[in-house]
Amino acid sequence: MDNTLLMLPGPVNVAPNVLAAMSKDIVNHRGDEFGVIYNETCERMSKVFKTNNQSYILTSSGTGAMEAAISNIAGPKDKILSVVGGKFGERFAEIAKTHGIDVEELAVEWGTAVSPEAVKVALEADENIKAVSVVHNETSTGVAAPIEEIGKVMKNYDALYIVDTVSSLGGDYVNVDKFGIDVCVTGSQKCLAAPPGLAAITLSDDAWKEVEKNDAKTYYFNMKKYRDSGNKDPAQTPYTPSVSLIYGLKEALNDIEKEGLDNRVARHHLNAKASRSAVKALGLELFAKESCASSTVTAVKMPEGLSDKDVRGTMLNKYQIQLAGGQDHLKGNIFRIGHMGVVNYKELAMTFTALGMTLKECGKDIEPGAGVTALADTFLEG
Ligand SMILES: *Cc1c(COP(=O)(O)O)cnc(C)c1O
Repeated sequence: MDNTLLMLPGPVNVAPNVLAAMSKDIVNHRGDEFGVIYNETCERMSKVFKTNNQSYILTSSGTGAMEAAISNIAGPKDKILSVVGGKFGERFAEIAKTHGIDVEELAVEWGTAVSPEAVKVALEADENIKAVSVVHNETSTGVAAPIEEIGKVMKNYDALYIVDTVSSLGGDYVNVDKFGIDVCVTGSQKCLAAPPGLAAITLSDDAWKEVEKNDAKTYYFNMKKYRDSGNKDPAQTPYTPSVSLIYGLKEALNDIEKEGLDNRVARHHLNAKASRSAVKALGLELFAKESCASSTVTAVKMPEGLSDKDVRGTMLNKYQIQLAGGQDHLKGNIFRIGHMGVVNYKELAMTFTALGMTLKECGKDIEPGAGVTALADTFLEG
């Protein structure tokens, strides 16, 4: 067994009961037994999305659901506004371009969040914008976007509101119906604490109207087919789903229900607050502005004179703790600590103990226990 602690923004360590659930017998995915399991999983997904609309499970990673969201809503004659403040915002824009959609990018400085006002200005300037894509939690920079406030702006326009909650759903506040989100997507291997390989999507009535009008140029992710198959008795998916992964996701969603979604979100917020205080106590600098810092992943500037190999290499090889690096121009300039899924003070205590030792060993003049002390203080304050 690999005992490495995954302090990543996905994949995350998965609870033993979730792993065990996946070892159950394979059943026919067109049969009654699977129909019940699929329905239950979709219903639990809708509860986590906080929507009265139907959710669908896709056998793909989160990116598949992003592609489903874009390609079912818009086509070559359409224009979308894409908020880009990191790797995943870029991905939404790239997907749209791949599908021949006219993309207007609303560029946001990496490490900061988009302002609802900027979205409003862009919508005012162009009435042809059919949809707006926003990444709730920009995993590459550790920034959370104000999706509730943007939702308030969106209510005054016809444009559909597409939100990627891949690294926030189950770890930060998401309320699809209340925020007026038309298409919301997520993935299994982040805050939901299930294994990688599944994604989920939910669409509003307004979104479905566009799906009906738009002849989606996608075969595998055609949402009309998912809806039609889901409505069959027994409920099913258009193509063979990953049956075992769905067993696992269903169990992971059950764990979320048992913990309580609000408790879970509060736990993630406390993880994030404690992590930021520990980072600062170790003399390190946060990459993202604290006012918009993510509740599920903390991005840290690489300390002066140290490399990825020094910090992340030592953490992994000596202490069996895996941290994430930076992407694109941030590669080598930041590292990221994921604190999502089942993570609590225990995993964070190990991480910051090891990080303190790592920095000291790399020659930094710090008190190696300062991070854990700050962590403990924050958890005690609550
Ligand atoms: C992880 C992630 C995705 C999806 O990535 P996959 O590797 O396809 O699962 C999308 N958006 C965000 C914000 C993510 O963090």
